[in-house]
Amino acid sequence: MPANSSRPAPSDSAAPFRIGLATSRSHQHGQESALAQLLNGSRQIIEQQLQPRLVVVGRTLDAMQQLGLLPGYPHIERFPYGRHGGLMKLVSRVVDADPARTLDAVIYLMDPVDPSSTFPEAVALKRQCVIHGKPFLSTLAGALEWLELEAVAAGAAPNPLLDPTFNLAQEGIALIAHDAMKERMLAIAERHFALLDQFAFRCATGTTGSLLNQLAQKIKGEEAGRNWVKPFLSGPLGGDAQIAELILDRQQCRRVLFLEDPHVARQHEADIQLLERAARTVTDYALCISDAECGERWLSLLQQRAALTKP
Ligand code: PGA
Repeated sequence: MPANSSRPAPSDSAAPFRIGLATSRSHQHGQESALAQLLNGSRQIIEQQLQPRLVVVGRTLDAMQQLGLLPGYPHIERFPYGRHGGLMKLVSRVVDADPARTLDAVIYLMDPVDPSSTFPEAVALKRQCVIHGKPFLSTLAGALEWLELEAVAAGAAPNPLLDPTFNLAQEGIALIAHDAMKERMLAIAERHFALLDQFAFRCATGTTGSLLNQLAQKIKGEEAGRNWVKPFLSGPLGGDAQIAELILDRQQCRRVLFLEDPHVARQHEADIQLLERAARTVTDYALCISDAECGERWLSLLQQRAALTKP
């Protein structure tokens, strides 16, 4: 699903929508696995609504067949096993400009303690998605939410089982932006202010948070906007780790919009990774959106979906 509105919508049959799919091994076993929960939970969306082409790495496809997931689904392309380059080929497809080959999004359900989640091809896969403005969903909750939002945008009825997660008055959101992305974060927050204001609370790393509170003061008035966002420590001083703890404790904060600058090396890279790994640790609960294009689309669709939510 194109984050970029100039690209065709997934339901546009002239331009089949393509999703890369891979999973860490621990997410492939049994009907309670993240893979099974993803494909059972979004079966109707995949088979009837979005009908994407799925480009699936070998072992994940073997697991789908063993578990009887998406039986008979016709739009599946097998990619090689990871050890034969399946993930590397996914990276190449993300950056491919050929509409007959390119991937519009990647779902890679990652187990943070599986060493393969830190292999260069896994890191590059996410990085190229960020650079090319394509969704990279690395948690079960993120993939389920994204499919639901795109399906509803394409006209599907909302899935009532997901309603509790869209009751934003009970939800928190974390907002973080690297230096080069702070202007963009402010522009996004201003455009989606009404939606962000519906959340029970907002939190941020230090500098991002104080900029967002200045914005809120302009919009809501000095007093009302002062504590719009709860600022933690600045990212380089450990703010990412503080937000990670909120997520790990499932303390009302399942969503992270982290506008990363993929072109700059940062000294606190480990802290940044830690935050996303925290989300992957509670894969059924948390999600991270890592680039501005996807973030804009996500917030727009979240607004639509939240308006359809029964309290
Ligand atoms: P900051 O941290 O909001 O304090 O700048 C963001 C980061 O660099 O992680």
